[in-house]
Amino acid sequence: MSAPVEREGVLLVSVERGGASAVAVEAARAAGVLGEVERRCRWYGPEWFSLRTPGVLDVGLLAELATRPGVRRAVAVLPGAPLYARTPEREVTPVALGAVAVGDGGVTVVAGPCSVEDATGIERVADAAKAAGAHALRGGAYKPRTSPYAYGGLGEVGLRRLAAAGARVGLPTVSEALGVDDVDPVARHADVIQIGARNMNAFPLLFRVGVHPAGRPVLLKRGWAATIDELLLAAEYVLLGRLLAGHPPGGVMLCERGIRTFDQEARFTLDVGAVPILKARSHLPVIVDPSHAAGRRELVAPLALAGVAAGADGLLVEIHPEPASAWSDAEQAIGLDDFVRLMDDVRRYAALRGGAG
Ligand code: PEP
Ligand code: MN
Repeated sequence: MSAPVEREGVLLVSVERGGASAVAVEAARAAGVLGEVERRCRWYGPEWFSLRTPGVLDVGLLAELATRPGVRRAVAVLPGAPLYARTPEREVTPVALGAVAVGDGGVTVVAGPCSVEDATGIERVADAAKAAGAHALRGGAYKPRTSPYAYGGLGEVGLRRLAAAGARVGLPTVSEALGVDDVDPVARHADVIQIGARNMNAFPLLFRVGVHPAGRPVLLKRGWAATIDELLLAAEYVLLGRLLAGHPPGGVMLCERGIRTFDQEARFTLDVGAVPILKARSHLPVIVDPSHAAGRRELVAPLALAGVAAGADGLLVEIHPEPASAWSDAEQAIGLDDFVRLMDDVRRYAALRGGAG
C-alpha cells in the first residue's frame, strides 16, 4: 500500500482535448484520490482543472488517476512546497541559454534594442552584442506601450528579423509575448519568452506560456507595484504549467526591473535588495534589468554593476546603434561603445564576486 503523503493539497488534472471538468472530477473520485471535492475551478484553458483536496492524497492513487480514461496528466502540489522554492536539494536551477547556463555562477548578459526595427539595425546590434561578449540578443516585436498611440512593434516580421540577426552571430534570442495569441509566434521564433512587468499578473498568459509544448524558458519581469511574494507566485503559474506539460523543472528566470517609489528622479527604483532575497527564497535564476529601472542612459551602467554586486545571475540591457533615435525607450538605450565599456566592467565585477563574466 502506498503511503498517504499529505493532508490537503491541490490536485491538477489535465484532461484530453474536448474533455470536461466532470472527467477530471469523476476520474479523481473513481481513483479514490479525493475524499471529497471541496472546490473545483476551470483552469486557464479548456483542458486543465485544479481540484482542492481536503482528504489524504495518496501517491499511488495519484499515479492510478493518470491512467483513467480521458485523463492526460495528474499532479499534486502540496502546501508548503511551492515549485519556486529553494530547498537544500534544489538550490539553483540554471536555465540553458545558447552557450551558457544562466545561474551557474557567472553573469549572463542579454542585450538588444527595446524594439526590433529595420533588418540592418538589428544586425548591427547583434554584431556589436556578440563582439562585446553578450550571451543573448533581445528585441521586442509585441510592445506593451503606456499610450495606444506609441509605437507598438512589428509583430511576426520583427520576430523573424530578430531570429535572423541572432542566428547570424550565433546568439539565442529573447522576445516578449504580450498576450496569449503571441505565445505561439514568440515560441516559434525566439529562444526565450519574456513576460513584461505589465503582464506579471496576467495569470492565463503565465499559465499558457508554461504549458506551451515548445517548453521555452521564460524571463518573467517583476511588476513595478508587485511584492516579492507576488513575483514568486506569478512564477509558480509558469512552473505549474510546465509541470503539467511534462517540461523539466525550472525554466524560469526572475527579473528585477525597478519598482515605483515616491522618488521620480529615475523612471523606477531598482530594488537591489530583491536580488539576494529572491536568490534565498527561490532556486530560479535572477536577472537585473537596469535599463527600465533607470529610464536614463547615464544610470544604466551603475545600476547594472549594482545588480552584479548584489549577486544577479544576469543582466538585461537595452542597446542601440543610435540611441537617441530608437523607436521606443530612446532615453534609456546605451550606445554600442558604451556597451563595450559596460561589458568590461561587468567582467571585472563578476571576477570580484568569484564568477566568470
Ligand atoms: C521591455 O523589456 O522592453 C519592457 C517593456 O520591459 P518592462 O516590461 O520591464 O517594462
Ligand atoms: Mn524597453
